[in-house]
Amino acid sequence: MELPFSFLGLENLPCEPTHTNRAGMEFEHLPHPAPTPADKRDEALKDPGFGKLFTDHMVVIDYDEAKGGWHKATLGPREAISLDPAAAVLHYAQEIFEGMKAYKQGDDTLALFRPEQNARRFNESARRMAMPDLPEELFLESIRQLVAADRDWVPGDPDGSLYLRPFMFASEAFLGVRPAKQYKYILIASPVGPYFKGGAKPVKIWVSRNYTRAAPGGTGAAKTGGNYAASLVPQAEGIENGCDQVVFLDAVEKKWVEELGGMNLFFVFDDGTVITPPLTGTILPGITRNSLIELLREEGLQVREEPYSIDQWRADATTGKLLETMACGTAAVVTPVGTVLGPDGEFTIGSGGTGQMTNKIRERLVGIQKGSVEDTHGWTMKL
Ligand SMILES: *Cc1c(COP(=O)(O)O)cnc(C)c1O
Repeated sequence: MELPFSFLGLENLPCEPTHTNRAGMEFEHLPHPAPTPADKRDEALKDPGFGKLFTDHMVVIDYDEAKGGWHKATLGPREAISLDPAAAVLHYAQEIFEGMKAYKQGDDTLALFRPEQNARRFNESARRMAMPDLPEELFLESIRQLVAADRDWVPGDPDGSLYLRPFMFASEAFLGVRPAKQYKYILIASPVGPYFKGGAKPVKIWVSRNYTRAAPGGTGAAKTGGNYAASLVPQAEGIENGCDQVVFLDAVEKKWVEELGGMNLFFVFDDGTVITPPLTGTILPGITRNSLIELLREEGLQVREEPYSIDQWRADATTGKLLETMACGTAAVVTPVGTVLGPDGEFTIGSGGTGQMTNKIRERLVGIQKGSVEDTHGWTMKL
């Protein structure tokens, strides 16, 4: 039975926030002068695309070394930000980001997938880029606050979700080369449909010969914009050659398969083994990658994290020893690799279609994320 507020004596309490704030910092709520009308929003949500449509609100948290660090958090209207032209991020690219999704579960509640892992990785990226840690609870609280404000922006379509983009950058105005003393953390959200148009259809991959993504000792394991900037020319080269995505080889021997511009790789063999490249510091430690290792082991497969060469990839695809190759990441979840265009021409994986294990593991992972498959790992966090 629900007791009326007046009965409980709560009538004078504000009804926001609806949950306990565990971050130890209050979020000031700035009213939105003109939120999107419901009919316009619902129309836009029918075909959101990927990363083109944004919700009404955003979270901003300011950091200033002179003010004791993180000191001011707001949830307010999504709007343009003003930056000094000398802001350090514009010159030396001190910037990191994360990518995660809020999924609508069957019962209309919302859930995040392993968000504490994103919070942890955000800080690992921050350390590599000489940026301050953001307390994990503050990161998670920012997400609860924004999703609570923009709940109506989650697409109803089962293939849709609310993509969340937390990021941090150096905002201090100076032109010296040293870590900045002022930063901004911002969280925005974008309602999305499937990442690749046409759903989980097999992609064609371009093997980059002229360009690498990350060298030993570099920033390959950090989620920082610069890695993506460096991937744009090879990605364009791939597209010119009729491919969807680019795969990078290691920077030293140009031999070992590392990852795509924004997705990790798994190779599935006919003897029940699976290989995924090891985390040596040049590969981004994907949360989807980590989850797939566990799910594939539960399917009885023997998963090994070890180097796999481009020559072996071609040879195993040709003999049929390699059954499937899958790419994985938050945005596209699990995507089959159908064809590879390498330095010695093209080769096809399996029949070039979607493999059985790719399909099975994708269904399981998506099912856990959407609440239709039991979450035995405690991976989902209800909002
Ligand atoms: C984000 C990212 C991934 C995938 O990580 P998830 O946590 O699974 O989303 C893989 N590679 C790169 C380069 C990335 O930036």
